[in-house]
Amino acid sequence: MLDQSELTRYNRQLIIPDIGEEGQRRLKNSHVVVVGVGGLGCASAIYLTAAGVGHITIVDFDAVELSDLNRQILYWEEDIGKKKVEVAQKKLSKLNQGVEITPIFAKITEKNVHSVIDGTQIVVDGLDNLPARLVVNSACIKQRLPYIYGGVSRLRGMITTMIPGKTPCLACAHPEGPKGLGVLGVTPAVIANLQALEAIKIIIGHSPSLAGKLLLFNGNDLKFRVYNIKRDENCKVCSSVLSA
Ligand SMILES: [Zn+2]
Repeated sequence: MLDQSELTRYNRQLIIPDIGEEGQRRLKNSHVVVVGVGGLGCASAIYLTAAGVGHITIVDFDAVELSDLNRQILYWEEDIGKKKVEVAQKKLSKLNQGVEITPIFAKITEKNVHSVIDGTQIVVDGLDNLPARLVVNSACIKQRLPYIYGGVSRLRGMITTMIPGKTPCLACAHPEGPKGLGVLGVTPAVIANLQALEAIKIIIGHSPSLAGKLLLFNGNDLKFRVYNIKRDENCKVCSSVLSA
C-alpha cells in the first residue's frame, strides 16, 4: 500500500488516469538496473528515482572527472575523483529516500553480468560501448529481461526497446550508433528520459512504444524519426527464444 506521504509525493502522476494508485504501487514494487551511470544513466536514474521505482541498481566502474560535468548531472565539482556509483547513490537517496539504491562498482563482463541483472525486471542502458552492450544483450535474452537501449553522440541519439522473443535484440538489430566524438549534455538527457518513460510504461503494464522500432533523435534540426526494425530469425543470440 501507499502511505500518505507517498500519496502526496506522487500526486501529480497518481491523478493521471493511466497510472493511478495501482500504477504507483507497481512502480514501488519494481526493480530496475541502470548499467552505466554516465550521461544517459544519470538522467534515467534521476527520473526513475523521482517517479518512485522502488529499487534501482546502478552499475559503473568509473570515478568522476571534470570533463563529465557537462552532461553527467548527478555529479558536481565537489565529487571529482569519487566513485560515480557512490556519489549517485547518495544524491538519488537524497532525492527520494523511499527508493532503495544498490550501487555496484564494477565493469560489466560476461562473468558478472548475470549476477548484476538477476532479480531485476528491466535493464536500462547507460553504457558507452558496443562490446559491453552485447554482453548485456545476451544476458537479457537468457534471463528474458527487457533491455532499453540508448546511444548518443554530439546532438544525435537513438533508442529502442528490446523484448526477448518479441523484438530484435541488439545483435540482430545492430543499430549503428551515432558517430563522432563529443556530446552535448542535453542529448543524453533527451534519450535517457525516453528510456525512463519506456521503463515506466512496461512496469505499469502498458506496451512500450519503441518495441521493434528505432527512434532517431537529431538535435540539429530537432526531429524525431522512427523506423521499424525486424528480427533476424537466424540471429545467434536471440533466435533460440521462441516468439511469444
Ligand atoms: Zn537477435
